[in-house]
Amino acid sequence: MLNKRRQEIRIKADDFREKCKVSRYGIIDLFKECDRCGYKLIRYPNGTNGDLGFALKKDKDIIIYTNSSSRLSREIFTLAHEIGHIILHMENTASFIDNDMTISEKNTDEKEQEANYFAACLLMPKDVVDKFFDLELEDYRDEKISIMDIARIMSEFSVSFEMALNRLESLDKISADEKVIFDNEKNIMRVGNLLKSVGGNSRLNEPSQETVIPYEYIDYVIYNYNHDAIPRETLEKALSCYNLKIDDISDRLKETIDDEDDLDELIGGLED
Ligand SMILES: [Zn+2]
Repeated sequence: MLNKRRQEIRIKADDFREKCKVSRYGIIDLFKECDRCGYKLIRYPNGTNGDLGFALKKDKDIIIYTNSSSRLSREIFTLAHEIGHIILHMENTASFIDNDMTISEKNTDEKEQEANYFAACLLMPKDVVDKFFDLELEDYRDEKISIMDIARIMSEFSVSFEMALNRLESLDKISADEKVIFDNEKNIMRVGNLLKSVGGNSRLNEPSQETVIPYEYIDYVIYNYNHDAIPRETLEKALSCYNLKIDDISDRLKETIDDEDDLDELIGGLED
């Protein structure tokens, strides 16, 4: 990636971050920021082998999906990566589907690399990482940082262990050798325990299994059911995502449909 392009991406990530609610260092809840941007966010536990996420432009809607079966820190990174695609690439391409391969650091595809770089700059901007090192790590200049410091960075910035190491290496905060040592230490001490030992957010290392679906989608499901486009079981399954049962919406269901009447109702009396 050319330096000029990297700078452009940093500026865009910075612009986005400025509008986000931020704690001392990290974005408090990137999922909530989707609402503010008008993105329609879907979170669904689609299994550990399922895709990690996608970004899609459909008519006027921008839809983001993230798989909540992946560890929360991973899901947050996927979300940041999808936001990167939306901000950097949606003018020419209407959809991106991401899995382990596309999001991998080793992927040489330009757009995937750019989305990863955007995500890194959004979650761990250089100036904020500098501030963390300056204010939180008093002995940094005399002593090397410890694996406990990595756990604190994970917790403060809501990132995975791998992401923290990659970003710190690319910002020259740790060397390639140190990165290998931390990786080995991590294999001995589990990440969840590391987070607990620094009083950090250990939920980051577990899948949230959250289901979040934009509320207006319920209207589409009911409309489709009322028009015999989906069976009752699909309606029940879709409702269960909202913790609803058929009885809860029974007043909106039609047992038999007269297509013509229904169309009139939908158009809303144009002839009046
Ligand atoms: Zn991607």
